[in-house]
Amino acid sequence: MQQIEDDSSEQPAMIEEQTGQSRSMQQVQVPDHDIFTVIDSLSEGVFVIDNEWRYTYVNRGAEELVGRSREELLGKNVWKLFPEAIDTVIYRESMKAVQEQQSRQFEVFYPALNKWFESKIYPTHEGLTVFSRDITDRKDAEAELARYAAIVTSSEDAIVSKTLNGIITSWNSAAERMFGYRAEEAIGQPITLIIPPELLEEEVDIIGKLRQGIPIQHYETVRLRKDGTRVNVSLSISPVKDSAGNIMGAAKIARDISERLELERRKDEFISIASHELKTPITTLKGFIQLLLRKFERQGMPEALPTLTRMEAQVNRLTRLIDELLDASKIHAGRLDYEEEPVDLAALLRETVELLQATSSTHTLMARGTRQAWIMGDKDRLGQALTNLITNAIKYSPQANKVDLSIFASNKTVTLRVRDYGIGIPKAHQKDIFDRFYRAPGGLKTFSGLGMGLYITHEIVKRHGGEITMESEEGKGSTFVVSLPVKKN
Ligand code: ADP
Repeated sequence: MQQIEDDSSEQPAMIEEQTGQSRSMQQVQVPDHDIFTVIDSLSEGVFVIDNEWRYTYVNRGAEELVGRSREELLGKNVWKLFPEAIDTVIYRESMKAVQEQQSRQFEVFYPALNKWFESKIYPTHEGLTVFSRDITDRKDAEAELARYAAIVTSSEDAIVSKTLNGIITSWNSAAERMFGYRAEEAIGQPITLIIPPELLEEEVDIIGKLRQGIPIQHYETVRLRKDGTRVNVSLSISPVKDSAGNIMGAAKIARDISERLELERRKDEFISIASHELKTPITTLKGFIQLLLRKFERQGMPEALPTLTRMEAQVNRLTRLIDELLDASKIHAGRLDYEEEPVDLAALLRETVELLQATSSTHTLMARGTRQAWIMGDKDRLGQALTNLITNAIKYSPQANKVDLSIFASNKTVTLRVRDYGIGIPKAHQKDIFDRFYRAPGGLKTFSGLGMGLYITHEIVKRHGGEITMESEEGKGSTFVVSLPVKKN
């Protein structure tokens, strides 16, 4: 303690010398011990070192900084206490400060303490005064930022940020390559720079969602390049928040999907051509089977009939599969045609049930509900949707013996339900069930199929302005509900 008090009597002079404030301090006549209370309460570490490199004063901040008490530090030689420092910039800068009698400022990582320091060294007549701060948190944050910056820079995807007013605030190299604008050209400009005029509404929707904090995932759209050409992109957009959680803007990742779309287009084209090519021989085959059926019937050879009938059923199945493939590729290319005529869905349901009941010996199809339910639409397509739902209900309930069907019409909507008591669909797969080629993993081996029926059904219902939903419990069964708007002539 004695030593600290001794030191205190000398320190103000040193501080005053350095800061050049001795006059003003004397004018307000702050007593010495008060100044030391102030210095002690500084968050910075203050070390006073004499000409023999011994600590003559340290404040509380200094103790915390080096993790040693005053008693351990005072009177000790700096380099003996911290020999590791001799190999660092601390030693070099201290020597320089003494030799050149000039203050020095530097940042240093001190491995022994695993800390980053920012230090200022002031030479004095008696030695040195050192002010040090722990800047480890700032350095860690900077390193993290640098890591993110490296990821953003090297990303193959365009990464762009913008304010909530749609002003571009950052633009990475991939964005430069994808859209043709350099960062200097894009930053500060409105994001509408890269939005095609006919899609400007999209941005309003996007901003609306972001203001509510809703992220946007894999949104496929088109953007405009500097040279006026267009690029197909998949956008993922997340709100950017400040530390208080307020939404400040958005970070947008754009992936160029032109290549993928081109591949899909070629795949669809291939499926479409292949289906057409397959259809011709199958139709011919079916014609010949029917010819033979009639011939054998006429010639009184009934023993051949069951085989031929089975052959016909299989050919019909093949035709259905090929038609589905064709439909799925047409839907994907946006080329499925629809008729628009008044259709009585209740009558269509009865017809479909009758037809399917004839081919199912395992299940009873029980239909109930309104006698008439008129909507505007395409009878064949709606029949196809009903057939898909009912055949699925039969196919995916091998242990059950019935399927319940109901139809109800209100002034506005016709609601149709198909309920089975089968294997059901696990929760995790329910959201994907209407996707093209999607099949829930559970029944893949047991049940044959291509995963197109529900995709086509969903599309047909959507094109009629309706909605299809599903409730299902694994092992208990599924209910598919179709609601279609009643449109008057
Ligand atoms: P597919 O039956 O040819 O596989 P769908 O598109 O008709 O194709 O159906 C997609 C998937 O949805 C099926 O593979 C099956 O996993 C599931 N699924 C459809 N309907 C039912 C149902 N009624 N019960 C259980 N699973 C079903």
